Amino acid sequence: MIYLDHNATTPCDPAVFEEMKKWFTEMFFNPSSIYTPSQQARQAIEDARKKVAKLLDASPEEIIFTSGGTESNNTAIIGTAYLKKNKGNHIITSLIEHHAVLNVCKFLEKNMGFQITYLPVDKYGLVDPDDVKKAITDKTILISIMAANNEIGTIEPIEEIGKIAKENNILFHCDGVQVAGKIPVSVKKLNVDFFSLSAHKFYGPKGIGALYVRKGVKFRPILYGGHQEKGLRPGTENVPAIVGLGKACEIAEKNMEDDASKEKVLRDKLEKLLFERIPEIIVNGHPEKRLYNTLNICVKYVEGESMLLHLDFEGICASSGSACTSGSLEPSHVLLALGIPPEVAHGSLRFSLGRPNTMEEIEKTADVLPKIVEKLRKMSPFWDKK
Ligand code: PLP
Repeated sequence: MIYLDHNATTPCDPAVFEEMKKWFTEMFFNPSSIYTPSQQARQAIEDARKKVAKLLDASPEEIIFTSGGTESNNTAIIGTAYLKKNKGNHIITSLIEHHAVLNVCKFLEKNMGFQITYLPVDKYGLVDPDDVKKAITDKTILISIMAANNEIGTIEPIEEIGKIAKENNILFHCDGVQVAGKIPVSVKKLNVDFFSLSAHKFYGPKGIGALYVRKGVKFRPILYGGHQEKGLRPGTENVPAIVGLGKACEIAEKNMEDDASKEKVLRDKLEKLLFERIPEIIVNGHPEKRLYNTLNICVKYVEGESMLLHLDFEGICASSGSACTSGSLEPSHVLLALGIPPEVAHGSLRFSLGRPNTMEEIEKTADVLPKIVEKLRKMSPFWDKK
């Protein structure tokens, strides 16, 4: 099997799994109880909190554990909307956010009378900070822009947007799920008030994430219950997963530079070979301001899903921007926002590389895909006409 879908999820690092194990079995204790083993579990949580904080250049008190990126985004956006709805009902976001932001905004629009500005992006997927500035009104309470896009890898000008938010005294949330553990992040430098991350995107376990909340920034919790996480995210802590997240942060910090240089070489090689071997393809995303592991292409006159199925027959796992919704294939909202015509967007493929990938895997993929495309194009009436 060749796994090239690391933006969807990564394998749990064996060292992370090893560290987690005892917190499932012999150290199963509830961290809120008073006896010594429980206090050890509490300590393990606090140690993990320090590691997450270190990865983000934050203080441990600014980290809240959640169930992942989706919950972190929901908490920041809905939690701010609840608290500030009397001050204003306007939120600024972009057209290319993950659904864990877009659908939260749609919920607020439909159910809480919020007005949302969905900013356009340029052909590379970049949000223009000037557009953010122009969209601000006296009712704006929050700006939410992602650090890097999960489909095309474009890295957004977060620091500049953060400055604008600060100058205008508006809270700024950044969905950092695709950058945390991949590239260096300093929440202080980025001027963000909220920052979401998710462990399973950087070799940690699934179902655990964190939300950075700048010291002094308030929001209303979206869950109610016990006193855990200072009452801001109640529920018995998932100790093994939290420990795993901490370990994944520690490993990411150590490996980040090596991962980046190795994966970039592989990604660039894949891009070059596919370009040489397949006519009529385009690369999506910014040529330079792009995650080093991500390659998103559109292969004209072919369906992304057909290519994925054929790749799967060959043991290659990749993904496409399209989502199969209620029986109809919708092209990716991200690719459409770049101005790509729907018929071209349907032919999208995303390869996202990770730590375990090798040059042999890249070469095999670059051998297999052109043959698949040739075969599918032979069956395509559009290719025929062309
Ligand atoms: N935000 C982005 C940019 C993502 O890529 C993802 C996952 O694909 C999420 C949020 C959701 O994260 P999780 O799977 O941890 O809920």
